[in-house]
Amino acid sequence: MADSVFSAPSLQLNDFLAAFGLDRADIKAIDISQDSGSLIIFLELNIKEHRCPICHSPTTKVKGYQLKKIIHSVLNPTPCLIHYRARRYVCPVCAKTFYENNPFISGNSKASVATVYNVLNELKRPEATFRYVAEKYHMSASSVANIFDKHICPSRRKLPECLCFDETYAFKSRDSDYVCVLLDYTDKKIVDVLPSRRIRYLMDYFYKIPLKERKNVKYVSFDMWKTYREVSRVMFPNCVCIVDKFHVLQELSRKVTRVRIDAMNRNKKVKDELTRKRKQLKQVHEILSPEDEGSLHIAELNYYLLKKFDFVLFSNDPRISDPNDKKRFNRVLNRYCNLNDIYDLVIGIDPQLKEAVEIKDIVHLFYKNTEYANAKEDLEDIIILCRTSNVKGLQDFSNTLCAWKQEIINSFLKIPSINRKMNNALIENRNKSIKLLKHSSNGYTNWNRFRARVLYTLNDDIPMRS
Ligand SMILES: [Zn+2]
Repeated sequence: MADSVFSAPSLQLNDFLAAFGLDRADIKAIDISQDSGSLIIFLELNIKEHRCPICHSPTTKVKGYQLKKIIHSVLNPTPCLIHYRARRYVCPVCAKTFYENNPFISGNSKASVATVYNVLNELKRPEATFRYVAEKYHMSASSVANIFDKHICPSRRKLPECLCFDETYAFKSRDSDYVCVLLDYTDKKIVDVLPSRRIRYLMDYFYKIPLKERKNVKYVSFDMWKTYREVSRVMFPNCVCIVDKFHVLQELSRKVTRVRIDAMNRNKKVKDELTRKRKQLKQVHEILSPEDEGSLHIAELNYYLLKKFDFVLFSNDPRISDPNDKKRFNRVLNRYCNLNDIYDLVIGIDPQLKEAVEIKDIVHLFYKNTEYANAKEDLEDIIILCRTSNVKGLQDFSNTLCAWKQEIINSFLKIPSINRKMNNALIENRNKSIKLLKHSSNGYTNWNRFRARVLYTLNDDIPMRS
């Protein structure tokens, strides 16, 4: 409706007034003109009895006028300004002066109420930059930022029963590049966003929250950052600490990938050396020995398989475990094969890789099938398996598992109030939005604004302050 009002050549006055809850009888004067591409609506309201805000005496006595230029952009392609001749009344009893009531602006805003509403709505989308919104509503980026700062001041939510800690690399503040996100696992809302994950900062932050509230926190989930465990133990006396499975599996994947890359590099080295040798021999009209030729061929194939088909080691694609899947001709391998064959070839290249992948699969099964009652026993088996493995990375991984043993076992607990286990997969999604916000902000330099924007964008119940 508003759109047609402003894009039409002649303004549909009644629609315009209706949008502000006014009718003709409220208007003393109205005039519409064009000025260098902008639509200018001059407006004065009729005198009406007002009550003094101090002593509540009625008055119609006018003190004076002030012209207010208000940006009024409501999805219209041309900028629109309301030139509002705002009246001040004076109280005959206490001499207080005050502005008349009006539907255009609140307080000293330079934008109309409808514009403020639209701007704030637009900023709900994490990809909308202040600059983009400014252009759309014909105002400066700093005006948009001012509107945002003035109306959106989200406070911290109450500490929940199930609290997730997570961090994302997003905001370059003085002492930390990480944003620490606190999430209520149960209702999926962000409790708060903190500019640092350092122990001093976190201890200070939580210490300011009354102990009574902190005692409500029963489960805390985090990645393997020791500070979170330390802070949780001190600040949440009733909590069970949980290390999220996502982070354990991620760490393990990195170890397996390391083994794969080492194997790949070894094969590359052989391949490069023998290729060079073959070139040198060619210059003196000689050729590689059949053994060298064979080794070169194997190194080339191994390198190709390890580089191109790394995904078969991690993917859940059912074709990988299906020997009867349709085979296609592969030119490099010079044979028909399916993903199941490829998997066998990749695994067969290096005994350490085979071992690492087998242990990785065991850990995945552990997370899939183990119940809390058996978690300790099964985890201890895995620790021994890793510790006695021939793969250095897995020996290190067994140390990680030991260091976080209790927290890993706790991750198998079913939380009674939600009847399932906690995991941070959800918060990881939020982090994507935070990164988007960071990206769309061209680098926030104002932490409070960034924090407000994250909370405003990701929680759907942040009130707009008038
Ligand atoms: Zn008064």
